[in-house]
Amino acid sequence: MNRIKVTLDKKTSASYEIYIGENILDRMGLILAKNNWASRYIMITDSNISAQYGERVQATLREMELKIDAIDFPAGEAAKNFETGLHIIEGMIDLGADRTSALIALGGGVVGDITGFIASIYMRGIPYIQVPTTLLAQVDSSIGGKTGIDLPHGKNLLGTFCQPKGVFIDLAFLNTLTPREFGSGLAEIVKYGIIDDPELFSSLEVEAEDIRIRDMNLLKKIITRSCRIKKGFVEIDEMEKGVRRILNFGHTIGHAIEAESRYSISHGEAISMGMVAVALISERLKYLRSEDRERIISLIRVLGLPDRIPRTLNPDGIISRIKRDKKKEGDTIHFVLLKKIGIPFVNGSVPEPLIGEVIEALKE
Ligand code: ADP
Ligand code: ZN
Repeated sequence: MNRIKVTLDKKTSASYEIYIGENILDRMGLILAKNNWASRYIMITDSNISAQYGERVQATLREMELKIDAIDFPAGEAAKNFETGLHIIEGMIDLGADRTSALIALGGGVVGDITGFIASIYMRGIPYIQVPTTLLAQVDSSIGGKTGIDLPHGKNLLGTFCQPKGVFIDLAFLNTLTPREFGSGLAEIVKYGIIDDPELFSSLEVEAEDIRIRDMNLLKKIITRSCRIKKGFVEIDEMEKGVRRILNFGHTIGHAIEAESRYSISHGEAISMGMVAVALISERLKYLRSEDRERIISLIRVLGLPDRIPRTLNPDGIISRIKRDKKKEGDTIHFVLLKKIGIPFVNGSVPEPLIGEVIEALKE
């Protein structure tokens, strides 16, 4: 089992560890029992994960004499809302949860975000731990303490920064992910290679085939590497005031594409397109060499991710969504551009017509 320590400023958050390995739930039970974070645990999960893994995870934890209950809610991205939140909170009240209780988020990003959010506000805050079950959640959303729910007006409009007590990444969960869901996580891993780790990028190029068939040893290596990169950004910028923005590489355009498709395009697919678009913008602005842009496109392709924007999406729609991005400050939209693979920078002056041209050029 690999361990990564996330060291945070003591004034704001306690430090914690990320544990990574295959079939590590029994060891997770031991760590929970030893650390005594809570008198009882309530596992929050969605209906799919509950059906596939719920009983087994609870049984493993009970073997360590931990007191554990579970609450689930219907699966689906649309579930990350107030109503689900209330359903969980009511369930917790019915179970008699108090400030000595802790939550376990067992699931993908939806479960993790909503569970973290409730943990951060229930009785002014109780501890929680993350057990991410999708590749996307394992390398991204479970680390860094961003929590949230969606409102009808937009995604993640309510949320907090609230760090978990620990993150337990069990690779065994990855076996049951759909190829599409698996691909979503791969897109974030490609992003880490592009923004921070040319060596990771090269190894993805060389080992793409084995990654696609989910070679667990290889996955353990690249997930660990990805988590290290993410934790590095979180450590220097826990509240996303500055450098953590680099993690948004490909996301400004990606989010706009995702929303414009009404979420029929997955997060990973959308940011793959976003990363290609930003690479092309970087090239057109003469920061990035065309060879590097070509490498990015090839890698995205061999991993089975899309490098083109569907013709059915309206470019003006995408652009107007980019302009409404919640991360913009005043009238400036900060794009993360590239000088090289491994050398990103933030740029606030990408001309709007260029964004349109690039989106047009990438239409399939
Ligand atoms: P993310 O935001 O991390 O991509 P979601 O929380 O939106 O993930 O979950 C996507 C879908 O995958 C949900 O329907 C969820 O129930 C399902 N899911 C999560 N983990 C697994 C798993 N290990 N195996 C199979 N399906 C899973
Ligand atoms: Zn993302």
